Amino acid sequence: MADAKIIDGKAFAEGLRQRVAVEVARLAADHGITPGLAVVLVGEDPASQVYVRNKGRQTVATGMESFEYKLPAETTEADLLQLIDELNGDNGVNGILVQLPLPGHIDEDTVINTISPDKDVDGFHAINTGRLTTGDRRAMVPCTPLGCLMMLKDHIGDLSGKKALVLGRSNIVGKPVAALLLAESCTVTIAHSRTLNLADECRSADILIAAVGRPEMVRGDWIKPGAVVIDVGINRIDAPERGEGKTRLVGDVAFAEAVPVAAAITPVPGGVGPMTIACLLRNTVVATCRQHGLAAPDL
Ligand code: NAP
Repeated sequence: MADAKIIDGKAFAEGLRQRVAVEVARLAADHGITPGLAVVLVGEDPASQVYVRNKGRQTVATGMESFEYKLPAETTEADLLQLIDELNGDNGVNGILVQLPLPGHIDEDTVINTISPDKDVDGFHAINTGRLTTGDRRAMVPCTPLGCLMMLKDHIGDLSGKKALVLGRSNIVGKPVAALLLAESCTVTIAHSRTLNLADECRSADILIAAVGRPEMVRGDWIKPGAVVIDVGINRIDAPERGEGKTRLVGDVAFAEAVPVAAAITPVPGGVGPMTIACLLRNTVVATCRQHGLAAPDL
């Protein structure tokens, strides 16, 4: 069998960002509207700072307005909720994202559910979760799951009737991915740490989504020949072969073992990862259109 096609998430994300930029220009030209995305960061977590910086840069690069709120780690929950209330009421802000994780003294669910569901571009608000589950088209869909679905549909086309195995049941990846695949009429199994015969379950799937956060846990012989594999995992491991103290990123799938078996696979890095911010920008444009009573583009 030929080696798997490597799905280029970087190029796919670049294409999506270009389509977003075209829509942003059209909104400005036809309606005088510039979408605005507010990103709120509480504390100094270095990884979160990098994410927020990248989000801001890419937002501006597509022609949208970026508003960054960097709050000290000791910010109270009440002060954060008040800022969100202000952003909810600000017509120049069409999308609101609160970077997670939040410091321990702040309840994440309370914060997420204070964001207006129509501005919840992360798609984590309980109303959007409900809309996604019930097939309500107004759902704001979480970015990483949406990126997975876009790449799958681009590669496979019609997903109807495919057997999909989602490894991981988190609220931010596993469950929404499963809901999206179900909506595409896949037969969906969700596996987790208590699943029995995990390798057999994986081996039965035409589509395998790994979102488990365990470096290279999915081995080559867990994969059905010809399956399409989407590796969501981002795991940093030691890489002494690159020099003392060096590390590298790997996914949840043993990539080199998977390539001769799968029909297609996303690499780590360069697969799902780049799609997340691109989908955030897409969601911001969609949210802007809806807030102005305009038809949302099919991006
Ligand atoms: P999470 O909240 O830690 O959830 C992990 C899931 O994997 C849980 O459902 C857990 O099962 C399951 N699991 C853990 N160990 C297992 C095992 N040995 N066998 C079977 N299932 C097991 O993780 P997450 O937030 O969904 O993220 C998953 C991975 O995706 C991480 O590597 C993360 O960095 C990455 N990620 C990437 C992006 C991106 O590309 N932009 C975005 C988000 C996440 P239980 O529920 O039974 O505990």
